[in-house]
Amino acid sequence: MTGAGASAVRVGLVYPELLGTYGDRGNAVVLVERCRRRGVAAELVVVPAGEALPAGLDVYVFGGGEDDPQEAAAAGLRQGRAALEQAVAHGAVVFAVCAGFQLCGTVYSTGDGRRVEGLGLLDATTEAGAPRCIGEVVSDTTDTLGVGLLTGFENHAGRTRLGRGTTPLGRVLVGAGNGVGGVDGAVRDRVVGTYLHGPVLPRNPALADRLLEWVIGPAARHAVADRWGAALHAERLREARLRGLRAWWRDRRLARG
Ligand code: GLN
Repeated sequence: MTGAGASAVRVGLVYPELLGTYGDRGNAVVLVERCRRRGVAAELVVVPAGEALPAGLDVYVFGGGEDDPQEAAAAGLRQGRAALEQAVAHGAVVFAVCAGFQLCGTVYSTGDGRRVEGLGLLDATTEAGAPRCIGEVVSDTTDTLGVGLLTGFENHAGRTRLGRGTTPLGRVLVGAGNGVGGVDGAVRDRVVGTYLHGPVLPRNPALADRLLEWVIGPAARHAVADRWGAALHAERLREARLRGLRAWWRDRRLARG
């Protein structure tokens, strides 16, 4: 889409056979649906694993995946790097989760010492560590994208270090996120990475609409028929806080002996 009234918004779901854990496909579906429900034409464009990335999409959605599929995806993606860079230079949005986020950085070092070269869209390097970071996450984006608290689920070994001057997506209140510096994800212009699954955009409609604002402008602020988004967001935040409280009590009891 190149302006109001132009062709449909094209949301690319990249390599879903390899990068698609925990329903991450839902991120692309929600972006398309939130356009359509506002009367904005939108289509889901699946880019099958191994195929070259097309340059003309409006949004590129990358999901998570374990190390082997991630490495396989990296090999194909690197061949499409020029197309992706070109799209980003023309204002395309990249939204990448977990393995996808790691691949948007410069390198991912696996637990058994393999180096998987990333796309270099973000100044971020990732190294597998232990223990795995598993569980609910709450992060605060007030000072970055300004969409308040995000809720998500994480399951990863990677610890991600951001280069100087790279903005994190959020400050972690519950969970690990990047596992370094108390933050989750990274943002550079319209490239957004996060460790949050859920899938994260159905759980956080405000984040979905912020991404869409970059594509369809103020229309992304129009109300949208969505029976579940706000309720799911509130319920997941409540649950994460309750778990945090329970863990605090347990630690207190253990400390007292
Ligand atoms: N392979 C990566 C890690 O374990 C990503 C995992 C994921 O995408 N859930 O860090």
